[in-house]
Amino acid sequence: MILPGSTLGVMGGGQLGRMFCEAARALGYRTVTLDPDPRCPAGQVADRQICGAYHDRQALAALGRACAAVTIEFENVPAESMDYLARHCLVAPGSGAVRICRDRILEKGFLRNNGLPTAPFAAVTCVAELREAIRAIGTPALLKTATGGYDGKGQHTILDADRAETAFQGLGERPSVLERRVELDKELSVVVARSAGGESSCFPVAENRHSGGILDTTMVPARIDAALARQASRLATRVAEALDYVGVLAVEFFVVAGELLINEIAPRPHNSGHYTLNATVTSQFEQQVRMLCGLPAGDTRLLSPVAMVNLLGDLWDGSPPKWKHLLLQPQAKLYLYGKSEARPGRKMGHFNLLHPDPEEALRIATEVQRRLKP
Ligand code: AMP
Repeated sequence: MILPGSTLGVMGGGQLGRMFCEAARALGYRTVTLDPDPRCPAGQVADRQICGAYHDRQALAALGRACAAVTIEFENVPAESMDYLARHCLVAPGSGAVRICRDRILEKGFLRNNGLPTAPFAAVTCVAELREAIRAIGTPALLKTATGGYDGKGQHTILDADRAETAFQGLGERPSVLERRVELDKELSVVVARSAGGESSCFPVAENRHSGGILDTTMVPARIDAALARQASRLATRVAEALDYVGVLAVEFFVVAGELLINEIAPRPHNSGHYTLNATVTSQFEQQVRMLCGLPAGDTRLLSPVAMVNLLGDLWDGSPPKWKHLLLQPQAKLYLYGKSEARPGRKMGHFNLLHPDPEEALRIATEVQRRLKP
């Protein structure tokens, strides 16, 4: 066990890294983040920031020497960097699991090979494969780049087979996945933690609403029956086991005709798990610290229904949001990530709204979100 007083590192200095550092610090650990941006969100709260590129050997060696263990806050950390870092200190999750999660072709293949349900898909690396994929999958479909896409970026909807090649060209003919567009009843997610000893524990299932491909609101408990919730937790656990994962992992699901399909896996805490900062006994970030340090998992029990709302850069629109509408709500908990520049679609912060009635939590949260607009 790595005990309080030790130093923990995080590759990446975004908001997830920031909340990891805050959780580690609350438990008495020292923290170091590696990020090229001197003003990054995590750098503002870590004990130390190493400013450097993610492949910079000197920066990696400095991080590895300073820390007892290092984790990641985004999946695009180069696998070579994680392997190099692992020569200096403990690194979790391992580069093998991260490599799978960062590439949609590997990720979907991994799910299929392990008998885990997905929407029908095919890998596309050239025009000939695209034509074959269109024949096999049909339309409407989504063409998604294998790497580098997030929050709906790097995706094209294909309604008509004749437009597929144009869409592929639009994505720079990069390796992609063609996926059938399914009729979504709901979107769900589960954050699961798995220890080095192979014990898993899930946070309560979250119900997510997206807007323009970006998470907008999360509601917990999800409005699903107990059997579907158990099944989502079981599938998330199976994903963690099949990856031999150590750390915190998020699995996103589609509910289609009452059945669960896995959309994506994120090898880190997740935006849809931010509700755990206030609504569960242990937060997903404390859990990340616990898994990294070999401590037992904390209790994931839900203390109150909750709605989480993302605060995107669009809300700034020339002047800051009207915070008073949020701050006047005693059940609302505001988190801002310390980003100086607000851009459309950029995640600037979020708030959690706790209420004994989950529908009321969502209603009030949505109302606050509306009133924040300048
Ligand atoms: P992704 O970046 O793959 O998570 O996609 C972003 C959002 O687009 C998802 O959360 C869904 O709302 C929607 N989406 C993605 N793939 C599909 C699909 N195969 N069928 C229907 N909607 C999808």
